[in-house]
Amino acid sequence: MDMNTIEAVVRTTDPADWRDGDAWLAGGTVLFSYGSTAFGPEPLRRLLDLGSAGWWPITVTADGIELAATCTVAELYALPEKLAEEATRDWPGLDLIRPCCDSFVASFKVWNMSTVGGNLCTSLPAGPMISLCAGLDGTATVLGPGGSRRELPVADFITGDGQNALAPGELLRSVSLPASALSSKVAFRRLSLSNLGRSGVLLIGRLDGGGRFTLTVTAATKRPVQLRFASLPGAAELADGLGAAIPAGQYHDDIHGLPEWRRDMTHRLAEEIRAELRTPAGAPAAVSGDFWPPQTLKTKRGA
Ligand SMILES: Cc1cc2nc3c(=O)[nH]c(=O)nc-3n(C[C@H](O)[C@H](O)[C@H](O)COP(=O)(O)OP(=O)(O)OC[C@H]3O[C@@H](n4cnc5c(N)ncnc54)[C@H](O)[C@@H]3O)c2cc1C
Repeated sequence: MDMNTIEAVVRTTDPADWRDGDAWLAGGTVLFSYGSTAFGPEPLRRLLDLGSAGWWPITVTADGIELAATCTVAELYALPEKLAEEATRDWPGLDLIRPCCDSFVASFKVWNMSTVGGNLCTSLPAGPMISLCAGLDGTATVLGPGGSRRELPVADFITGDGQNALAPGELLRSVSLPASALSSKVAFRRLSLSNLGRSGVLLIGRLDGGGRFTLTVTAATKRPVQLRFASLPGAAELADGLGAAIPAGQYHDDIHGLPEWRRDMTHRLAEEIRAELRTPAGAPAAVSGDFWPPQTLKTKRGA
């Protein structure tokens, strides 16, 4: 896509440089796909290029993992293997990284350019880096004009379909994934209407050392929804919790899935996750309830 309204590309990471008509440029896979007239009532005039930021992509400490906003999906994909070589940490949460990267409906070429921050800031319901970072209780650090700095949960950073908590000029600097979440037992489920299609439903469950259960629903809903329980709930309690937390209008509706299908699959996959997490490692998980009645098997709009 030509961006023929662009007058300048400025290498900066300073929000003070931002002015109306500017957009932060990370991997550019969205900006150069949509073009410069798709990001607001006025066309973009300048791109503020984060390519020169020089931010270390991934920092691992005893407290957890910090992902720079400019960390690419390819760099993130390589992380579990690198940490496995070190064999110094027991972080089952790392098992979520590759399935989330694989949930990107994109070639390896796009993976090498796409950034974690660009995915969060695009804020699509099917953003797999959103699923990962929200599912692991990530905290987003946001820099603003005037030197401000604020932190908020990734689950709150995304406020709707294509919407987020960034004010004009603000910049997502990084996401921190806490060790407490990384050391949880995790379960991952994803569904798409087609084999290599965009995620229609993506759920992540976590059971932490204290037995607390967190379920993060993404892709099915317009923005991440998290449910927290003091212990692993029963099937009915979990289903009731989902019903209360996700009103019908909160399910996403686009070509990648009807809201009714997304709701039914959310309930089904949540129960699968519950069954998996209550089962000792190695034993088959028993799923209770009939969560996939044939009448809900609508795989195409109007079918
Ligand atoms: C073939 C293909 C398949 C794709 N599949 C998927 C998919 O399955 N799911 C999905 O969610 N997306 C998908 N995308 C869209 C896109 O590739 C991803 O969302 C990607 O992660 C965007 O990252 P980027 O670094 O390229 O962002 P950019 O294009 O550089 O930026 C995207 C937006 O975020 C803003 N931005 C970027 N970084 C920051 C920052 N640090 N702070 C503030 N604002 C920032 C930009 O100003 C722009 O508005 C796909 C794209 C292609 C081309």
